[in-house]
Amino acid sequence: MSSNSNYSFFQSVEKSFDKASKFTNWDLGILEQIKACNSVYQMRFPVKMDNGKIEVIEAYRVQHSQHKSPCKGGIRFSDEVNQDEVMALASLMTYKCAIVNVPFGGGKGGIKINPRNYSTYELEKITRRYTAELVKKNFIGPGIDVPAPDYGTGPREMAWIVDTYASLKPGEIDAAGCVTGKPVTQGGVRGRTEATGLGVFFGIREVCNMEDVMKKLGLTTGVQGKSVVVQGLGNVGYHSAKFFREAGAKIVALAEFEGAIYCAEGLNEDEVFQHRKKTGSILNFPGAQNLAKNSDALELECDILIPAALENVINGENAPRIKAKIIGEAANGPCTPEADEVFAQKGILCVPDMYLNAGGVTVSYFEWLKNLSHVRYGRMEKRFTENLNTRILGQIEELTNKRVEDKERAFIMHGPEEQDLVHSGLEETMISATREIMQIWKDNPSIPDMRTAAYVSAINKVATSYLELGIFP
Ligand code: NAD
Repeated sequence: MSSNSNYSFFQSVEKSFDKASKFTNWDLGILEQIKACNSVYQMRFPVKMDNGKIEVIEAYRVQHSQHKSPCKGGIRFSDEVNQDEVMALASLMTYKCAIVNVPFGGGKGGIKINPRNYSTYELEKITRRYTAELVKKNFIGPGIDVPAPDYGTGPREMAWIVDTYASLKPGEIDAAGCVTGKPVTQGGVRGRTEATGLGVFFGIREVCNMEDVMKKLGLTTGVQGKSVVVQGLGNVGYHSAKFFREAGAKIVALAEFEGAIYCAEGLNEDEVFQHRKKTGSILNFPGAQNLAKNSDALELECDILIPAALENVINGENAPRIKAKIIGEAANGPCTPEADEVFAQKGILCVPDMYLNAGGVTVSYFEWLKNLSHVRYGRMEKRFTENLNTRILGQIEELTNKRVEDKERAFIMHGPEEQDLVHSGLEETMISATREIMQIWKDNPSIPDMRTAAYVSAINKVATSYLELGIFP
């Protein structure tokens, strides 16, 4: 998530925006408005630590765009937090939400602390005080700005935020919608954990189903039988690998911090994960070959490469040695602009992070909708659907005098649970976004890559929204 050497992070986002805006016809003023960060709240507040000393905490919340309400974006706890970074991340959220048709403006928050240096009680005090500061300035609320987890934060912090918010706003019926990524017991939604990895899978599967795109890459259509390399066996990498394997792809290599392993017959991500848990390393997995360096995995012969660990791992130096046909950017910023240039020359298709890893924010949107509707997904229709399916199946069996086998019967009868509906909503979202971006690219072949086409998609949607809203006199 860092900037390149000549530009700040925010400036490099602006640069990508400018590159893409050349492929649009919007008025310069509108483009300037879209780029700008509308509201930046920089704050300092004191917190008394366990040793009795008072520490002044530096924190931020940025609302990049209110073309849709509320604003949406994670809260990061990190030593590296600064205003430029939060502004850049907030603007990326605007574009990401627009691309996947999540009706939010972009936002982001950050607290400049290393959470490892604080006790749980201290972290709770910092999080609650930060929330109180946001409430005071009207920077949080289900219709204003809805944070979520990011680096260094998770469901625990989100539960503290919703509790603080609800106690400062007694009687606010929609208070649970003031933050997403909450534990399921506190208004969270089932299906959030695997959302980003599943979104990565849905996005790449849709690309693989496009006959013309696959033909250009010299690949057959469909995910089945494709060889896949995944870097990073964390939340996103693990789930991406799982869904690819379940769809019939072969995970030929997995890379982690300490090394990488290769197996032409395919690896099972969970067996590897358990092996790593037991032995402390991904290496020496039975039946697999150790690779000399973890970065060697990136340069293997394969159909699909999924970097799901860190930023800048594919750059000008190693990009010429990449042999994958498709790169799915599951991590944020895994490929540098220099790598993009190499991919364009070599005809490698890089599916960009800004939309491919949008599964998390998409499911956050579903959580927010659940909170506003005050009902669990599936509660109203599950039983009705099951009863209906039972009747239909019964009729078919009676008329044909044949019995559907048990496994198929269970599948057909099943009424949707919350997780089924969340997965289905995510599938629809990723398929539509992929098609929209590809259509923009096809309509304008001078667009150099899919990343720029994704930006064009975002700019078109945000600009349309601004114009339809009308500009205040
Ligand atoms: P994570 O911490 O769960 O997993 C990252 C994994 O990468 C860890 O297991 C780590 O050991 C491994 N790793 C670190 N250095 C490595 C190296 N050099 N080679 C191979 N593996 C290495 O994090 P995550 O939530 O899975 O996020 C991964 C990436 O995806 C990040 O860039 C993050 O910003 C992005 N992302 C995550 C989400 C989400 O919902 N979790 C959403 C959007 C984007």
